[in-house]
Amino acid sequence: MALDIETDTDVNELAQHNILVTTFEKLWNWGRSWSFWPLNYGCNCCPIEVMAAGAARFDQARFGYEVVRAVPRQADLLTVAGPITLKMKPAVERVWAQMPEPKWVIAFGNCAISGGPFRDGYSILPGVDSIIPVDIYIPGCPVRPEAYFHAMLELQKKVQKGDYRRG
Ligand code: SF4
Repeated sequence: MALDIETDTDVNELAQHNILVTTFEKLWNWGRSWSFWPLNYGCNCCPIEVMAAGAARFDQARFGYEVVRAVPRQADLLTVAGPITLKMKPAVERVWAQMPEPKWVIAFGNCAISGGPFRDGYSILPGVDSIIPVDIYIPGCPVRPEAYFHAMLELQKKVQKGDYRRG
């Protein structure tokens, strides 16, 4: 049955027939927010908590984030857990550059945010945001998997609102 939508009444009538009206962008953002494909960078202790988040006790798969990629061209979320050494800086920058847009970054733990207890060391970056933009910061030493999930849910809200960098 074809209906011309001219008034609110017509829209209400359509809604009663289980028809939703939205935009492609909202639909895409909704899909993106439930299907992050993370790529994990890890150094020191925080990556162990990232691994725990994916294991059976916490079960990252419940949220649809479990397809962790080992190659940047298939990933849209970079999780940086632990400090970045100057030696690893070019590798992180290259991985980020190779990830397609749109893409996001989570700084996982004090070392990723600011260098943490190693901040004064000669070989540690003072935070991942000194080389790439960060969307969500999770403070902690270490961060627990529950906080990681909370950060993911906050990122999900940002993406659903379309509140992210493009290109
Ligand atoms: S923030 Fe703490 S737990 Fe995490 S990598 Fe640094 S020292 Fe280890």
